[in-house]
Parts: sequence; structure tokens; C-alpha cells
Amino acid sequence: MAVPKHRKSKAKTRSRRANHDKITAPNLQRCPHCYAPKRPHRACLDCGYYRDEQVIEIWELY
Ligand SMILES: [Zn+2]
Repeated sequence: MAVPKHRKSKAKTRSRRANHDKITAPNLQRCPHCYAPKRPHRACLDCGYYRDEQVIEIWELY
């Protein structure tokens, strides 16, 4: 197995982590059923719909 010859500097390590470990805001798209913002490939948390079908039950907490 290839092994690094030299230890990376603190600056190299930190600049790599600055891009790799950063937290980004989640993608948000409109739910086609209720138009609330939702994450792609997830059931809508407002109406419980995914691909024109109710897949989770939403309890109205008023
Ligand atoms: Zn929805």
C-alpha cells in the first residue's frame, strides 16, 4: 500500500477540512401537493405525500 512520505502541514489539513467538513444548507423544493418547502427524495412533512401518494400520516397539533 502506498504510504505518504511526508506529513501534511497544519495549513494543508485545515484547508482540506474547511471545504470537506463544512455544513451546507439542505436543498429545498416545493411540494407538488401542498407547495410547502420540502427536501428532494423525502416525503413532505407538511402533507405526508410522496409521488402523489400519502405515505406518512401527519398529526395536526393545534
Ligand atoms: Zn406537501
